[in-house]
Amino acid sequence: MQRCRKCGAYSNYTKIRFDHMGICSYCGFYEKHRNVLEQKTALEKSFLLKMEIGKAKARASGARYDCLAAFSGGKRSAYMICQLKEVYHMRILAFTFDRSPSKKRGQGYRRDILEKLHVDSITFSAVGPDMGGSGCDPYLAYIHSIYHHSYLLAGQYKIPLILNGRPKRRILQRADSTEDIEPFETAHDLMGFERQIFREMGVEDPEALFDKTEFLDDVEAEAVSYFAYHDVSEKKIVHTLEEKIGWVHTGGNGIYPYADRADQAVHDMAARMYMEKNGFPPKTGELAFLVRTGKLTPDQADALLQKKP
Ligand SMILES: [Zn+2]
Repeated sequence: MQRCRKCGAYSNYTKIRFDHMGICSYCGFYEKHRNVLEQKTALEKSFLLKMEIGKAKARASGARYDCLAAFSGGKRSAYMICQLKEVYHMRILAFTFDRSPSKKRGQGYRRDILEKLHVDSITFSAVGPDMGGSGCDPYLAYIHSIYHHSYLLAGQYKIPLILNGRPKRRILQRADSTEDIEPFETAHDLMGFERQIFREMGVEDPEALFDKTEFLDDVEAEAVSYFAYHDVSEKKIVHTLEEKIGWVHTGGNGIYPYADRADQAVHDMAARMYMEKNGFPPKTGELAFLVRTGKLTPDQADALLQKKP
C-alpha cells in the first residue's frame, strides 16, 4: 500500500490523494496554509476578537454568561476554563456531560475542580431515549446528544459562544480545504458544528443521521475551539494547573482518573467499530498530523499506531 512520504498516511486513509512527489493531500494543505496555522500572535488575536464580539453580544441581550465551556474533568478543559477566565475575562458557564449519573464517583471531584476555578457550572446527562433514539450508531448518537444539549443551553441562556477543548491534531487531521475548519471558519449553529465534528470522525452526511428538528434551527451560537488558536504544551498545562488550583500530577493522562476509565469503555467500543468499518485505527489521522507538524517521527507514530486503541 502506498504511504505519504512525509506523514506516513496510507492510501486507504479517508479521501487521501497523492501528488507526483508522493506527498498526500493533507500534507499539501498544511504546507499551503502553514503561514496561518503557525502564526501564533495572529491566531491569538483572532481568538481575542471572537471573545470580544461574544461579550458585546451577551451584554446586548442581557445574558448572564459570555460563554459556555465544555468541561470533561480532563486537564485540557480545566486549563481552557482557567485561561478564559484569567486571560480573556469571560463570564463562564461550564457544562459537564455526565454519561453515567447513577455512578456517584467522580462527580465530587469535578465539582471540586470547578469550585477551585470559581466558575458556575451545570451538569446534564442523557440516558434512555436521548441516547440512540434515532437508531444510528450509539457512539454517534452519544456525541450528537452532547452537542445538542450544549446548544439547548446556549439558547436557553442566550449565550453567544460555546467553547470546546478539542486538540489541534483532531481539528486538522482531515483538513484538505478551509471550509468548515478552524481557525479558517467557525460554525454558528448546531448543524454546522456537527458537520465539523463528524467530518473529523470520517462520517459523511451527518445531517442524514438525525431528525432535522433536533438541530435547533433557531439557536445561534459560535462554536470555538480554544486550542485551534493557542499552541500550548502539556508541560505548560500541567504547570498552570498546579499553580492555579493546586492540581497534583499523577502521571496519568487525565486530571480525573475515574472519568478516563469510565470513558475508556465507550472509546474502546467506538475504536473497534471504527477499525472494522474503515480498515485503520481512529487515531491514524491524528498521528499523521503530529508527524506532518514535526511533533513525532514517522517511527514513533508507527509504534503508537501498533498499540491497542
Ligand atoms: Zn502526508
